[in-house]
This record gives sequence, structure tokens and C-alpha cells, in this order.
Amino acid sequence: MSFSALGLSEEIVRAVTERGYLTPTPIQVAAIPAVLSGRDLMAGAQTGTGKTAGFTLPIIEILSRKNDKKEKGRRVPVKALILTPTRELAAQVEESVVEYGKHMKLSSTVIFGGVSINPQIQKLRTGVDILVATPGRLLDHVQQRTLDLSHVEILVLDEADRMLDMGFIRDIRKIISLLPKTRQNLLFSATFSDEIKSLSSSILKDPILIEI
Ligand code: AMP
Repeated sequence: MSFSALGLSEEIVRAVTERGYLTPTPIQVAAIPAVLSGRDLMAGAQTGTGKTAGFTLPIIEILSRKNDKKEKGRRVPVKALILTPTRELAAQVEESVVEYGKHMKLSSTVIFGGVSINPQIQKLRTGVDILVATPGRLLDHVQQRTLDLSHVEILVLDEADRMLDMGFIRDIRKIISLLPKTRQNLLFSATFSDEIKSLSSSILKDPILIEI
């Protein structure tokens, strides 16, 4: 199996090849076509399986296909929102987005707490296609009206079990209430507790299930 056989553009395949990836991992083989199909996804995957590329690559693919049809220079609203439990993970995921999307014309940024909010506000003002965030700081931006979530088309909950363990359930539900009702939802979790099952059944519509 190759990355191009999974339906990814030459620009993305080039970026992953430059990163040194020769073949997709099992989670990537399963998740990339599932995400490209537009369906919701519930994936059981541990860290270290390559799950990050499993959702960032098809998101970059979907959004760049749409961007090609738009006029250049337009200020873009956030179209993909990726929520993570920690700032370390958020930073890591955004680095992957930058790396895998380097031959595409997409913009992205990361926002998390514990650092000054002003540079984040400046960056959001310029418009980003893909936003990676931790829940608390994301809601700070919403409260300050420095972030518009009304154009989000794809939501990712990465390490959803850890987000619940860290007490983010109310924040997550609040954030979801601010998103358009019609959107694609991807949930990644290492474990499937009753709490995760209840969260996913309230968010996901007829999801494709993947367990690696
Ligand atoms: P993740 O599970 O997303 O945290 O990824 C774990 C590690 O695997 C990261 O260091 C990735 O750079 C690496 N990785 C992801 N996909 C591949 C691949 N297809 N081939 C080789 N390494 C990969």
C-alpha cells in the first residue's frame, strides 16, 4: 500500500516522503480513505501508531481541494478544528500540519493556555484554515470574541479519553454547541470507556469504526 493509493495528492505524498515515511501505517491505511469519504470516524488508536497523520493528511487533502476553487487573498475562517488535551500534543499536531501541508496553500495555527493570548489573537485575525487548540484557551478566545467557529466543517477530538480524564467534558460540549450542526466528526481514543461511548454516540453520526 502506498500513500498515493490512499487518495492523497502528489503534494502531500511528496511531503510525507520528504519526512521519510515510505509506507502508511495500519491506522493510516484505514483512516485516510474513511476521512476522505466525508464520513464520521471513531478510531481506537494509541500514540505511536501514526494516528496524527491518519487525520491531518486527509484534512489537508479535503481543505486544499476546496481552497483551489476559491479566489486567492481571501481571509479564511477556521474550517478544521482539532482539540487536544495538552499543549505539548497541540504543538506536536500543528507541527505535523505545517510539515505535511508545506506544498499546499493552507494556513494553520495552535492556541493553548499558559502563554500570552495576544500573539494568538493577532494570528487568528489573519485567518487560518486549520486550528489546533486545547479546550480552555479556545473558550477564552470565544469569550473575547477573537475566534469565529461558525464555518467549522471538520472537528477532531484527539485523545478524547485523556480529555475526559482531565475534566474537559463541559468545555468540549460547550465548544461543540458553537459549531455548525452539519460537519464531519473524528474521534480518536486509546480506550473505550462508557463515558467515551456516550460522548461519541452524542456527537458522531453513523461513524466508521476503526480499531488498531
Ligand atoms: P503518532 O502516533 O501520530 O504520534 O506518530 C508516531 C510517530 O510515527 C511519529 O514520530 C511520526 O512521525 C511517525 N510516523 C507516522 N506515520 C509514519 C509512517 N507512515 N511511516 C513512518 N513513521 C511514521
